[in-house]
Amino acid sequence: MRKRRAKIPFVSYFSCRRIAFSTTFAQFRHDQTGRQETAVFLSLNSRVLILNQSYEPISVCSTKKALLLLFLTKAEIVEERSTSVVRSVRGFYPFPSVIRLSAYLRVPFRKIELSRKNILRRDGFRCQYCGNNHPPLTVDHIIPRSRGGNDSWENLTCACVKCNNKKGNRTPDEARMRLMSIPKKPHHVLFLKHYLGKVDETWRPYLFMD
Ligand SMILES: [Zn+2]
Repeated sequence: MRKRRAKIPFVSYFSCRRIAFSTTFAQFRHDQTGRQETAVFLSLNSRVLILNQSYEPISVCSTKKALLLLFLTKAEIVEERSTSVVRSVRGFYPFPSVIRLSAYLRVPFRKIELSRKNILRRDGFRCQYCGNNHPPLTVDHIIPRSRGGNDSWENLTCACVKCNNKKGNRTPDEARMRLMSIPKKPHHVLFLKHYLGKVDETWRPYLFMD
């Protein structure tokens, strides 16, 4: 059976049109009164983290889509950007940074393939022995294969060529090379984090990074 990706709550075309219409109408009325304010949906290209009802992070969306979900009461604001606001003709609204869905969304389990690329992604393309992030980067068996080490999320780590050669056929303890992080099987959120690049400070508690 074909796997289906979890979808963010449905925002119908009709809903979007209705909101667009009311915004236009509101702006028209505002123009008539001569006030100098701008309408909603300007400069809304930044990203918003979406949490499930259970507070588990599940995806990201544009600010515009987040505002639609909030407007339709399909989500609530959990964190806002203190430096920004959304302006409308009716007033000022918090600029969302993290929103939480009103209803629980069942997210199908997505298996992350154990591969060289995914090990590097999990480790942020950074050598876990020295922190170097310059390619070429390799995948190191923490317990060497020749010593019974297997291919697993827990036994593979990103290493630069220099560290990999230095460690050779030894364990980290033997080589006195300490790992910067304990390698674990990744959650899909971790991949979300790397996909996004720089993570907003307000997202950190929800991405299990602290
Ligand atoms: Zn290194």
